[in-house]
Amino acid sequence: RAKELGRKRFEIFDETLAKNVVDVLALEGELRHALQHDQFEPYFQPICGLDGGHVVGYEALIRWNHPQRGLLRPGDFLKIAEDSGLIEAIDWRMFELSCQLLLQHGRADAFMTLNVSALHLRYADFDERLIRLLEHTGLAPSRLVVEVTEGALLDNPERVRATLDRLRLIGVGAALDDFGTGYSSLSYLHSLPLRILKIDRAFVQELDKGANTNSTTVVAAILALARALNIQVIAEGIETEIQYRALMAMGCEMGQGYLLGHPAPIAQWREPHPVDA
Ligand code: C2E
Ligand code: MG
Ligand code: MG
Ligand code: MG
Repeated sequence: RAKELGRKRFEIFDETLAKNVVDVLALEGELRHALQHDQFEPYFQPICGLDGGHVVGYEALIRWNHPQRGLLRPGDFLKIAEDSGLIEAIDWRMFELSCQLLLQHGRADAFMTLNVSALHLRYADFDERLIRLLEHTGLAPSRLVVEVTEGALLDNPERVRATLDRLRLIGVGAALDDFGTGYSSLSYLHSLPLRILKIDRAFVQELDKGANTNSTTVVAAILALARALNIQVIAEGIETEIQYRALMAMGCEMGQGYLLGHPAPIAQWREPHPVDA
């Protein structure tokens, strides 16, 4: 019986492993197919000035219109896209479409942020390629902000800094995404050419719990730090009016979140209801 059980267990394990590999390979195939058939679509989430809720910019977020599985979010496929290296081609297609859509449907005075995977920043010619894309699409460099995460910086801080420096020279801005969740080091903050810090939604969500919480202290400290370094701040994931008001009272300039607008195709995208001060 023990032998039998043992064999069964082995079979189950073996089957699961094979199933995962097959799934991964299948999804990789589907990602390649999706690239060829243009199934990726940038959704745009508004970034608003907190003094009145007017749109100042948009974050472009990738979506996959999968013919069988429906609308997929990055959580469903980004990991496999990165592991397989397909993220490179997918992102460049995403960047191109985003620039075109912003020009067609965006407010003329609004900027756009693009999420740049850590992988891209390993290439020395990332900035040159981005500049060629701007020329090709006709988008003004000053309207573009690249979002990088702290993880991308850990990889090769010197190269990332050099790339962001070159981009800044032509007017492209840089934002540090999900700030506060990674291996934050204050030492690189002032040495990086950052235009924007994005406070992670984990801190924003906690603001509902009142003024005397750790999150309030952390957010206030981030805002003070950003002010001292002359960096703008966007609060992520604002879902309630309490959060909105708390951030506004603390002097946070910009925010995004479901309260202000969900990510959506930009052609369908409507102005958020301004939140009364
Ligand atoms: P992120 O850059 O931190 O983007 C914010 C995420 O929070 C988005 O998820 C957005 O839909 C979601 N969000 C916005 N407002 C709220 C809110 O009020 N509450 C909550 N709970 N969530 C909110 P999404 O679109 O699923 O994207 C997940 C991550 O995938 C992004 O995190 C970004 O790191 C990555 N990503 C998105 N688009 C791209 C892309 O084109 N290329 C690459 N390389 N990565 C991307
Ligand atoms: Mg982002
Ligand atoms: Mg973020
Ligand atoms: Mg994130």
